[in-house]
Amino acid sequence: MNDETVASFSRRRFAQLLGAGAAGAALGKMAAAAQQPLTGPNPIDRSSTGPTPSRQLHLVQGGMPAEVVRLSANENPHGASPAALDAMREAFALTWRYPDEHVDALVADLARAHGVAAGQVLLGDGSSEILKLCAAAATGPGRAVVVADPTFEAVLHFAQTAGAKELKVPLTPDFRHDLPKMLAAASGLANVAPGLFYVCNPNNPTGSITPKQEMRAFLARVPGDSLVLVDEAYFHYAESGDYESVVPLIAEHPNLVVARTFSKIYGLAGLRCGYAVARAELIERLRAQQPWDSVNIMALAAARASLHDAGHVESGRRANREVKALVCGELDRLGFRYIPSQANFLMIDLRRQVKPVVASLHQRRVDVGRVFPALPNHLRVTLGTAEQMQAFLAAFRQVAAA
Ligand code: PLP
Repeated sequence: MNDETVASFSRRRFAQLLGAGAAGAALGKMAAAAQQPLTGPNPIDRSSTGPTPSRQLHLVQGGMPAEVVRLSANENPHGASPAALDAMREAFALTWRYPDEHVDALVADLARAHGVAAGQVLLGDGSSEILKLCAAAATGPGRAVVVADPTFEAVLHFAQTAGAKELKVPLTPDFRHDLPKMLAAASGLANVAPGLFYVCNPNNPTGSITPKQEMRAFLARVPGDSLVLVDEAYFHYAESGDYESVVPLIAEHPNLVVARTFSKIYGLAGLRCGYAVARAELIERLRAQQPWDSVNIMALAAARASLHDAGHVESGRRANREVKALVCGELDRLGFRYIPSQANFLMIDLRRQVKPVVASLHQRRVDVGRVFPALPNHLRVTLGTAEQMQAFLAAFRQVAAA
């Protein structure tokens, strides 16, 4: 990197550029929290050349970032709660121990938080493991998986591996799950039972929600011998009055399992911790598929501390809301439409094939989401820090708005 061509880009400058001073204050607080040293600066991005050395994003001449800006994985660039980092430091001394009582402690805290019994919570090595357990328990030859298109595809992958048939039902034109059509498609299956319905709410990659009344009506109609997996990975970012978590509905629905994760609002994606909430009998069905102790002691310590830092969740939600407003404002100004997002990412309608744009952004060191075949004109971008989004917008103006 040539120092003469490197320009430092401040939060203040970003706020001036987009005409929104409110971003600075919240982001300053977030960045300060996430900068708590562990053994050095807390890196925010992975790049081809290693971790970003500091939180300040440097731009080279022409406004391009000097290192890769990763907006492709819906991570939380504000990082973990300082309390989680402290808890991990304390847990260093415990690495020789199996994590038994730490599992029990996190399960107890989660059960309390959700108002359920401890036997209704199962931890996973990321919520991906919960998805895998559901696919293993409920799909296979003769037992299909029913999903929306597009949606988060991990469960499809696991169900395919189990030998299941897959049914993909397009989202509605306004990007809700078409739950009546998912039910109809399942009831039309010959010689195959609908083993698993997967509903991602808010949905990845669209960031859209499926309204609560539709979810309730769907749950009331799903055949009792099919499992319903509602993936609430982005629960904390959803602020619409039409949205609700279905965790409280578990009491009424013995076939309902809800997946949550510590990878998003809690900023612990690298540690791998998620969980399921369901009726105890269903939890036992899932547990039967799982290795013992699949969550490590560091993840348990960090997750537990994160759970008790409500302020960190709230400031993360606020930062996401503010960055989303800034980016949407700029897209409005540029004349681009986007799917209203209830998550920490945004789907932008480019009105043309997105594939070459993704490649051009990559050349400018901005990584965005992959192409989703069901929406080939939509570009998914994670909502990062204000600085990262400024870098994204600079590149976007060159490649998409040109
Ligand atoms: N579910 C959804 C909808 C996701 O988008 C992701 C990751 O991006 C996951 C689950 C997996 O998350 P993790 O395994 O990190 O908990």
